[in-house]
Amino acid sequence: MHAMKQATGKVYLIGAGPGDPELLTLKAVRVLGNADVVLVDDLVDRRVLAHAHPAARVIEVGKRGGCKSTPQAFIERKLIQLARQGRTVARLKGGDPFVFGRGGEEIEALKAAGIPFEVVSGITAGIAAPAAIGIPVTHREAARGVTFLTGHTYDGSGPDWAALRATGTTLVIYMGMKRVAAIVAGMLEGGFAADTPACAIQNGTLDAQAEVVTTLGALPAAAAHAKLGSPAILVIGEVVRHARIAAAPAAESTAQRAA
Ligand code: SAH
Repeated sequence: MHAMKQATGKVYLIGAGPGDPELLTLKAVRVLGNADVVLVDDLVDRRVLAHAHPAARVIEVGKRGGCKSTPQAFIERKLIQLARQGRTVARLKGGDPFVFGRGGEEIEALKAAGIPFEVVSGITAGIAAPAAIGIPVTHREAARGVTFLTGHTYDGSGPDWAALRATGTTLVIYMGMKRVAAIVAGMLEGGFAADTPACAIQNGTLDAQAEVVTTLGALPAAAAHAKLGSPAILVIGEVVRHARIAAAPAAESTAQRAA
């Protein structure tokens, strides 16, 4: 890397956190304030941009599933091009850049192009959204650990649910709301009990936060009834009993946050 031309800039892959702008790191704020150009995903709360330099150019590169989006290849080319122009580039991503954020693909492209980069970790929605309703995802009396999964795969195939059940870990599913019925069906088929505590949290840590705390079997209907949509995190496992909005997720009960 030290063979780099002096004129080459640098790309910072920055985690903007789950939503609430106060969940940014100090480093994210500092690096953002020094950037010449900011490339921002649409899941990033726009209040975060208050920390960008007033003269910085902001480029919106939304990539939300199902919506009109900027091709990944374009984003990668843009990062490389800007850095080669000597710019300090902030690439702002929701949550943590390396948790389902395609940060891995972006650093591969940067590495291949010989562009210096640094990753600034962020707080991932899979921990912060459950925490926002009091769920400790690895509470030791209730889980051996936590597994982060995506509900959205290229080919629509699901994971080996029976194997996941055997791990005794809390399951935290990103991008699962659209396929919640298929996911739950797969889990039941894989041996999960229908009365396993489960919840869905939309817009976690934001004012618009909404959630349902229920059981696995009742989750699709409860989420539909509460009109929950994307972005949402699904949490399945005993730790969901700690959700502060429901004493215990009794079957069929749906709790929606008041206010
Ligand atoms: N890198 C991000 C995840 C990007 S994938 C992170 O670490 O959090 C996008 C998915 O993240 C969404 O579909 C949703 O499942 C989840 N997500 C992001 N922000 C969220 C929020 N505030 N509340 C609930 N889920 C959220």
